Amino acid sequence: MYTLVNVYIRLYPYKMDKLCLNCSKTIIGRADKKFCSSYCRSAFHYEQKGQQTNLVRRVNYILKKNRDIISKLNPKGKTRVSKTTLLTKGFNFNYFTNIYRTKNEHEYRFCYDQGYIEWEDGSCTLVVKQEYVE
Ligand SMILES: [Zn+2]
Repeated sequence: MYTLVNVYIRLYPYKMDKLCLNCSKTIIGRADKKFCSSYCRSAFHYEQKGQQTNLVRRVNYILKKNRDIISKLNPKGKTRVSKTTLLTKGFNFNYFTNIYRTKNEHEYRFCYDQGYIEWEDGSCTLVVKQEYVE
C-alpha cells in the first residue's frame, strides 16, 4: 500500500528536498505541499482509489468463495468435515467476517451466515449463523 508521508532527500548540506508522492520529483513551493503539481495530486488519488477498490474486490471475492464452500458442504445446517476438505475446495482460513466465542471459549468463525469451528484433530464443524450468533 501507499505511504502518505513524503520522502525527503538531502541534495545540499543545508537543504532537504521534499519529493512528490506521485513522481518523486522535488516539490517546489509551499512546505505543506505533497505533490509537485495538481496533475500528480489527482493521478495519485485516482490510482489509490483504484488500488483500494481492487483490494476490496479481492477480499469480497475470497469471503464469498469461503461462504459458498461452507454452504455447499453443509446443506443440513450442521456437519463435520476435515480441514483438508475445505482447503482442497480452496477455502482461505485467513478471511472471515466475524468471530463468535461460546461460553466455553470455543471460537466460531463466520463468512457471513456460514461458519465453522476448527478442532484440534484437524476437523471442522460447519454451522449456519442463526443457531450461534445473536
Ligand atoms: Zn509529481
